[in-house]
Amino acid sequence: MADDPKALKPETAAIHVPHVRRDGAMAPPIHMATTFEHGPAYETLHGFDYSRSSNPNVADLEARLTALERGSFGLAYASGMAAGAALLDTLPVGARVVFHNSLYHGFRALAGLLESKGRIVPVFIDLNDGEALEKELAQKPALVWLESPTNPTLEILDIAAIADKAHAVGAKLAVDGTFATPALQQPISLGADYVIHSLTKYIGGHSDVMGGALIAANDALQEELSLGRSLSGAVLSPFNAWLAARGLQTLHCRVATHCAHAHAVAKALEGHPRLSNVHYPGLADHPGHSIAASQMHDFGGMVSIELADGRDAAIAMASKVRLFTNATSLGGVESLIEHRASVEEPHVTSPLGLLRLSVGLENPADLVADLLQALEG
Ligand code: PLP
Repeated sequence: MADDPKALKPETAAIHVPHVRRDGAMAPPIHMATTFEHGPAYETLHGFDYSRSSNPNVADLEARLTALERGSFGLAYASGMAAGAALLDTLPVGARVVFHNSLYHGFRALAGLLESKGRIVPVFIDLNDGEALEKELAQKPALVWLESPTNPTLEILDIAAIADKAHAVGAKLAVDGTFATPALQQPISLGADYVIHSLTKYIGGHSDVMGGALIAANDALQEELSLGRSLSGAVLSPFNAWLAARGLQTLHCRVATHCAHAHAVAKALEGHPRLSNVHYPGLADHPGHSIAASQMHDFGGMVSIELADGRDAAIAMASKVRLFTNATSLGGVESLIEHRASVEEPHVTSPLGLLRLSVGLENPADLVADLLQALEG
């Protein structure tokens, strides 16, 4: 293991920051043990006691993610939702949380549930609207929460500027970095206090692992979050930690290809007469293009398109694809398509004609041909 993970370049850290003892094996073992020998008065002898608190594979993954995100500590959870829920759970009762309007629908639903119990007061605004943000910050929220790029409309938010404004009123900033991944964006370096990831997406990378992570800029919440995870039982399983850690090792090269293919798809569809919009931050006329160019290394593997003729046209297109598969989730090697409004029912916020594309690692010419035949056929 490297002495100082922060001295390593990201691609190197993804491969060389393992904590699991390997005994010379190039692939780390999976520690399936639920319990570890301790001393007669519960003295920790081997670094771990019980796998609901932590486990060598979980700790290994956390070390790598923390290094990649330039964080202070990180915790891995059973899903991305569990990671986000754990952070919200640290807030005092009645805390105000300002969310950007374009938000993964699961977190919108969770915010509504917590509001109905009087746990938090969620507010949804356009965080790109400076005046609206100033107004909400005057209400002294505990937390501002955003994704960039957002799911599913791929809006871009200026993380550094929003972090500065939030900090000026004592609020923290949480960034859901699932779409960008640590390969493209380091929110903590831009001023965020917390980064959330669904490991289920690009980090796992093969649509076969469910997991989440929360990485923090400082240690203030480490004890509370670690205890909370242990008591709620929301920890990631050793096998899923092993899979996610394996995914991290190829993240940078997979994401580079996802980005190139997404760019090719967006360019091919841009201006198509049957589309009213192609959302991809890599396109020069995307409203967030210059901010994305400054805070991301590339523009990501997700593209959303809007059919000019609305919902029925979108469903018709989604029913004609042959290589893309209609399935939820994203970030795997295979290309997926999804009519998000149908997923979000009954609380739909996505445009009715929008189809979200998770552009995979297949040859981009085949992907473009598939989309065009489905659009025009
Ligand atoms: N954040 C974003 C942006 C997502 O797209 C998702 C899931 O689609 C999540 C969080 C939740 O992750 P998980 O499904 O691993 O709980």
